[in-house]
Amino acid sequence: MLEIKNLHVKLEAEDKQILKGVDLKIGAGEVHAIMGPNGSGKSTLSYVLSGREGYEVTEGEATLDGVDLLEMEPEERAAAGLFLAFQYPVEIPGVGNMVFLRTALNAQRKARGEEEISAGDFLKLVREKAKTLKIDAEMLKRPVNVGFSGGEKKRNEILQMAILEPKMCILDETDSGLDVDAMKLVSEGVNALRSEGRSFLVITHYQRLLDHIKPDVVHIMAAGRIIKTGGPELALEVENNGYADLLEGVV
Ligand code: ADP
Ligand code: MG
Ligand code: MG
Repeated sequence: MLEIKNLHVKLEAEDKQILKGVDLKIGAGEVHAIMGPNGSGKSTLSYVLSGREGYEVTEGEATLDGVDLLEMEPEERAAAGLFLAFQYPVEIPGVGNMVFLRTALNAQRKARGEEEISAGDFLKLVREKAKTLKIDAEMLKRPVNVGFSGGEKKRNEILQMAILEPKMCILDETDSGLDVDAMKLVSEGVNALRSEGRSFLVITHYQRLLDHIKPDVVHIMAAGRIIKTGGPELALEVENNGYADLLEGVV
């Protein structure tokens, strides 16, 4: 599914090397977690994969099902099945949530050379997904994220994911953190979307998120590299002992 080899990335503005040789391979249907101290480059990795401006890949590669991601425009990456959750946390006054979701879906279809979804079919699709995710119909009518609680924003992002049906989902948690309820919402949403053909990369500071989203593989990132890979027990090790032991001799 997703394969990253020796990825080196620097900040364009500051000529500062952030990622210094990231290797990562995520198979179809797998859930991988990345943990690591603040500033280790976790968000940079997700931004570079999604095609955000301001970063320069100086070495290495990233492919999705064998296709070079790094050469693609952001919307082409989305059309190829990549989704960065929490990429639309902004409030968009005046744009109804339904219109926004439909626009996003149709942009994806267009990039794939598919026909637009009809208003009727879209309504059916949204209602079905919203029901599965226990999302209130009223929330669908409101402007995107305007006045949404933290939990509602998270739920809305999961709804976007459910509608776009990506095959590779990257979830980068905000540093501000989620309360327990919001965390449960995200986890339930993610778990409902887990399938054989869909993979997840969950980036988190919090081991407790991984109590809800059970990862197959856990990676520790530090100083722009993956310094250790293991099973779920690695997350517990971090929870109990912190990063100090793992970082010894690395940074
Ligand atoms: P993490 O998500 O692991 O906390 P980040 O990817 O956010 O790490 O940041 C990695 C490093 O890159 C940090 O030292 C951070 O200060 C720096 N960095 C990332 N983006 C920028 C930016 N746009 N401008 C300046 N420094 C940045
Ligand atoms: Mg950070
Ligand atoms: Mg981050």
